[in-house]
Amino acid sequence: MSTTTDILPAAHFIGGEWSPASSGKTSGSIDPATEEIHAELAAGDASDVDRAVLAARESFDTGIWRNMPPAKRSRILWKMADLIDQNRAAIAHAETMDTGKTAFDSGKIEIPLVAEIFRYYAGWVTKLEGSVLPLPGDSLGLSLREPVGVCGMITPWNFPMLLAAWKVAPALACGNSIVLKPSEQTSFSSLWMAKLAAEAGVPAGVFNVVTGGGRAVGTPLVQHPGVDKISFTGSTEVGRMVQREASNTLKRVTLELGGKSPNIVFDDADLKAAVRGAATGIFYNKGEVCAAGSRVLVQRGVYEEFLAGIEKMAGKTTVGHPLAEGTRMGPVCNADQYKSVLEFIEKGKAEGARLLAGGQSLQDEVGNGKGYYIAATVFADVDPKATIAQEEIFGPVLAVTPFDTEEDALRIAHDTRYGLAAGVWSQDLKRAIGFAKALRAGTVWVNTYNLYDPGMAFGGFKESGFGRDLGRQALDAYTESKSVWINLS
Ligand code: NAD
Repeated sequence: MSTTTDILPAAHFIGGEWSPASSGKTSGSIDPATEEIHAELAAGDASDVDRAVLAARESFDTGIWRNMPPAKRSRILWKMADLIDQNRAAIAHAETMDTGKTAFDSGKIEIPLVAEIFRYYAGWVTKLEGSVLPLPGDSLGLSLREPVGVCGMITPWNFPMLLAAWKVAPALACGNSIVLKPSEQTSFSSLWMAKLAAEAGVPAGVFNVVTGGGRAVGTPLVQHPGVDKISFTGSTEVGRMVQREASNTLKRVTLELGGKSPNIVFDDADLKAAVRGAATGIFYNKGEVCAAGSRVLVQRGVYEEFLAGIEKMAGKTTVGHPLAEGTRMGPVCNADQYKSVLEFIEKGKAEGARLLAGGQSLQDEVGNGKGYYIAATVFADVDPKATIAQEEIFGPVLAVTPFDTEEDALRIAHDTRYGLAAGVWSQDLKRAIGFAKALRAGTVWVNTYNLYDPGMAFGGFKESGFGRDLGRQALDAYTESKSVWINLS
């Protein structure tokens, strides 16, 4: 199979063309399995952002996309989905080389879901309606929905193409123009997306990608007066900076940020299913999931049985090369993350939690001294105030805490600054639904975990951010409402 560098140049995608960084600089993208550079990408700066925003602005102002007949725009988005499917193997390979996620997760789960997201929003293009209102006197009121304009998008490294699709697909459906800045560590699938958009018929300048660092490219994009909206997914710390910077030009902002999501197991749960759900909740994608169920709260009556089950599941979570068959967890995405996760593990040990499984690097065993491999790790008896129960680790590290009553569970569940997601496990649906309603989280899974659908909105409460991706709610994020008064007298 062709590699990323055979297909994609080390360039931005601006105005419908590949365009090297104005500075001529490139930087390497590192394969977390070998710690070696697997491909080069353009190292952008503010002047590249300027060029991309100009291209986006021009395409928006000419109306070439937003005024295109909706049925035609819809067909183009559908074609994009088909092209993503047709190029699935190559895109998935690039995604795995950038992130360390398994070939199965990239190729069988995530890239196909990206295509479905484009199909879902292709369906919306012809259904974006306004309304007509009765007004006093002889007047008619029209409530119209219009695209916001130029949307700057900034995405993280854990689900590079999927999270870009969460933003790009609804924004394009609503007729916006885009400048996307993917994470500098995982840019290739976003470049793929831009290439396929152009092939599908998205006009030049409508969808631009500028690659490079957070401060070099992200900050100028957030500050740019030619950008109307910023849609950001990433850490709560950077999200805070983005909101501050965007306030100078009063841009619209949506923020999808971090989480420390609780998975709550009641003593009447189907325990086998709950153990499986808790394991996928934390070990899918090496725990590098914003909604990872990184805390499991277990009712005392089934606590020991749950621990025995999760210990076994952790032991069966094979860590290996992400392209190798049978691997359940590849390496974590980058060197900083590797160091940080191992530090959290040491902190867990030092703060007195009981280490039940894992708890160490597997670099030597799996990668012959190279690669960011970490064992599936479970701590039991974790104090809800402990660092590993409060901080987002963003790695394969689970903190299990017992509880006695529903009130205890709710109090512990709410005892972090985040509110992204939660899970509830109980066979008493009345209890499960009541508890789901009481939880302050943007998504609550009942008797399942970590499922996503293009139609289900996703986003956070509290410091997990605001605004929603996916679903019909995302259409609100990429449209402005305009009221038109018509005097008929
Ligand atoms: P990050 O905040 O470090 O980076 C995210 C993006 O912001 C990257 O593209 C980065 O280059 C850019 N960036 C960094 N500094 C910037 C600045 N000063 N101005 C503008 N842009 C800047 O996050 P990460 O480490 O890439 O991703 C992990 C984080 O993302 C975790 O906290 C995770 O929970 C969160 N996340 C949230 C969701 C969600 O939907 N809520 C989904 C996935 C990941």
